[in-house]
Amino acid sequence: MDKIQTLKTSARSLGLIHTRDALDEVIHTAETEQHSYLDFLTYVFDGEILYRQNKARDKRIKEAGFPYPKYLKDFDLTFCKVISKKQFKQLTELTWIDGLYNLILSGPPGVGKTHLAIGLGYQACEDGYKVSYTTMQSLIKVLRTEEIDRHAGVKLRRIRSSNLLIIDEVGYLPISATEGNLFFQLISELQERTSIVITTNKGFEEWTEFLGDAALATAILDRLSYQCDKIPMNGKSYRLENRKSFLNETGKDK
Ligand code: ADP
Ligand code: MG
Repeated sequence: MDKIQTLKTSARSLGLIHTRDALDEVIHTAETEQHSYLDFLTYVFDGEILYRQNKARDKRIKEAGFPYPKYLKDFDLTFCKVISKKQFKQLTELTWIDGLYNLILSGPPGVGKTHLAIGLGYQACEDGYKVSYTTMQSLIKVLRTEEIDRHAGVKLRRIRSSNLLIIDEVGYLPISATEGNLFFQLISELQERTSIVITTNKGFEEWTEFLGDAALATAILDRLSYQCDKIPMNGKSYRLENRKSFLNETGKDK
């Protein structure tokens, strides 16, 4: 075996996967740029650290379960007038996750609730937080089937150990008393350890209606509201305002 091959095998045994894969290039760069011993080792270690950080971030994003990517950089504040630049900055700095604050984004369809929630989730993954995304409907399903469905158990374990839980589309479908109670239990459990972002099309007065129980709605809102920012996104629908069409405006029958 030549020296490079032996080194690659050693790198593999030490778990230095990036160094193994990039070894030819690493040696070549060091030789052409005449690295000192110090620079060379720094280059190797930094490369390995960056590789591991990126891999861990990609894993966090994958396991968060986002339905599609949405980024904060694409969120147009001039369209969403209810959030000031300063508030947006505070939101995107994510210190509220460390402080266990919750966030409730409410409003009609198309105003950017899901975009903002997923954007914050992506940023949180970038910054090293463990994130879980779920719609309310699928959360209720996993809560109901936790004992009998292994996947539901796995999902809930992840949710319970997340720093940030995003529950999208709360209030779209009514839920039963049993389901409401399971939801309440989860919210109570997470209170001291997980930040929750909720998107909803319902005002708080309407929570009783979709939960079907005033006492339960009050109890859930009481837990959620303790440390919480509520952003009513009552603007126009971005979809309706920016409707796209693949037909030419003049493409009528000739
Ligand atoms: P909601 O969850 O409130 O129904 P979405 O977040 O799904 O709305 O937004 C609908 C579409 O409009 C998405 O493609 C989203 O990226 C886009 N959108 C909404 N608000 C904004 C915004 N302020 N800047 C950029 N895109 C936006
Ligand atoms: Mg949405």
